[in-house]
Amino acid sequence: MNVTMRTRLLAAAAIAGSMGLASRVYTQQQPLPASEISSFHVQGSVYLLVGDGGNIAVQLGDEGVLVVDTGLAPNADKLIAAIRKLSDKPIRWILNTHFHPDHTGGNEALSKAGSKTNGGPAEVLAHESVLTRMSGPTGRQSSAAAAAWPTDTYSTEEKDIYFNGEAVMLYHEPNAHTDGDSIIFFRKSDVVAAGDTFVTTSYPFIDQANGGSIQGELNALNRILDITVPAHEQEGGTFVIPGHGRICDEADVLEYRDMVTIVRDRVADMVKRKLTLDQVKAAKPTLDYDLHYGSTTGFVTTAGFIEAVYKDLSNPQGKPRVR
Ligand SMILES: [Zn+2]
Ligand SMILES: [Zn+2]
Repeated sequence: MNVTMRTRLLAAAAIAGSMGLASRVYTQQQPLPASEISSFHVQGSVYLLVGDGGNIAVQLGDEGVLVVDTGLAPNADKLIAAIRKLSDKPIRWILNTHFHPDHTGGNEALSKAGSKTNGGPAEVLAHESVLTRMSGPTGRQSSAAAAAWPTDTYSTEEKDIYFNGEAVMLYHEPNAHTDGDSIIFFRKSDVVAAGDTFVTTSYPFIDQANGGSIQGELNALNRILDITVPAHEQEGGTFVIPGHGRICDEADVLEYRDMVTIVRDRVADMVKRKLTLDQVKAAKPTLDYDLHYGSTTGFVTTAGFIEAVYKDLSNPQGKPRVR
């Protein structure tokens, strides 16, 4: 093993270690200890709260608190306490980017801790596919308790609400990470909450069992790029909160979109040349990105990503088209 290779492997191991959180994301069967929640001001009225599980965005103002995603269930009390440190106003809205339990686990506790203006638990708003997935049997995912389900759904391409003097836009991305992804845009604060259509910690997870697809995933990344505007020299401007990972700007999303596109094109070429899945994996179509995003353990592995892209491109019927 030469020195460069060794360095790469060590770096890959470090990244795999930092992926530990992601590997805990979907293993809800065994109860997890509650993790600490850290908060960061992103921009305008929007804050980022980070614990185990998906990132949580919070918008604060005179009317109350709006929360995007609620993390893992065991962290709900700590999440409520972290929100209370930022604002003593009532939690009025909970928006879900999609149904996965690392983004909806705290729904029940947070909606009960909050309230509508006329009483009752805070409203939980999501695309209607989120309700379908949470209320019905979904195979691998255990369905959630009724008190955690969305109370307000939309089935159109987009939905908007006005809260705390700000337009909050929800854009449905069909068949991206799942079939119920919403990209959420705080128009005045100039912050996007991308859910798991964009993550900085791994390759994208295309949840094919729940309606995800590679082209839908690319469409979602392109939607984020449509919304974001860099301030100057490609730095700053609109901030993007990924489903997992650090706060980003447009340039980061652009780089990720290009990576996903290049891998998709490489696999598409191999599918065209009738390579088998094993041959595609052996050809390492992600090699130059594995140092950043690759993993052999955890929930989103390199092999899993390649397999999802391969399966999707080998059977394109009914898949979303390039927008
Ligand atoms: Zn997630
Ligand atoms: Zn997810």
